[in-house]
Amino acid sequence: MTGGWPDTGGAPPRAVVTGGAGFLGSHLCRALLGAGWEVVALDNLLTGSLDNLDDLLAHERFTFEHYDVTNFIHVRGPVHAVLHFASPASPDDYLRYPIKTLKVGALGTHNTLGLALAKEARYLLASTSEVYGDPLVHPQPETYWGNVNPVGPRGVYDEAKRFAEAMTLAYHRSHGLDTRIVRIFNVYGPGLRPGDGRVISNFLTQALEGRPLTVYGDGRQTRSFCYVDDEIRGILALLHSDHVGPVNIGNPDEFTILELAEVVRRVTGSRSEITFAPLPTDDPAQRRPDIGLARRVLGWEPTVGLEEGLVRTCEWYRAQRARAER
Ligand code: UDP
Repeated sequence: MTGGWPDTGGAPPRAVVTGGAGFLGSHLCRALLGAGWEVVALDNLLTGSLDNLDDLLAHERFTFEHYDVTNFIHVRGPVHAVLHFASPASPDDYLRYPIKTLKVGALGTHNTLGLALAKEARYLLASTSEVYGDPLVHPQPETYWGNVNPVGPRGVYDEAKRFAEAMTLAYHRSHGLDTRIVRIFNVYGPGLRPGDGRVISNFLTQALEGRPLTVYGDGRQTRSFCYVDDEIRGILALLHSDHVGPVNIGNPDEFTILELAEVVRRVTGSRSEITFAPLPTDDPAQRRPDIGLARRVLGWEPTVGLEEGLVRTCEWYRAQRARAER
């Protein structure tokens, strides 16, 4: 941990969070406010929603600006941290908005790095396990370079994030910018937009509506799902650490998609059947983080298992449905 960072002379430290109205971004804003920060959230609301910020909009240390960070960014006053979380993140979303995804990863990263440099702020990039593509090394350590198809449909997200990492380290090396990079692995929890296309969102929505769970391919592909509170705790630990290069923050418990479907049925008490649909192009066959580095440099590891995390997430999905029916 960096002792005493940021040094603000007693005033609350100030953070800019891009994608602040998104799933992870809104959790991050909430956690930063809870830790005493002043937070400026920027979001163009392409896939984010102000509903995620319902409880924060009136907070005295919180400001929201409807803004597209692919344009030049100006923020008045001091800024101690810039956290770049803006991007479509569900495969359905980034396939729907391929050019916007490339632009926010490229131009958005450049603009947010420029803001951090101008403000002499620390910069944290939200990167992704997708930089490993369809990995040939398993589990994936940060030293693995990945196996990405640059011209496939998923390449718009994977390559945008790979460019963003390269740009972030170029700013570190060329300008001495204080940077951090988190590689995020399949996060879920309250606030994950129902039916947003991601597997946990789809399965919970389908199970609660009594519709069949749509398993893509044969369901033997694997993922490692991290509960949002664990992820945010890891990101804040990284922000306060000295570690410049990428760090995997994810839960190494690995499940096949068929196993996940079973857990979702158990947790929701649903009798939904399973139907099979075609596997999307370039869908990775396996994914699991090696979190040795996070354990060593951050003293971080996840504490919420899949079943417990799904119970908490399911409660939120049920509450959302009840609210929509009122
Ligand atoms: N998936 C599925 N049914 C769905 C949505 C996704 O079987 O309704 C599969 C998808 O093909 C992938 C895995 O679940 O193998 C995780 O997909 P998700 O979109 O959540 O994340 P990512 O592919 O980015 O890890």
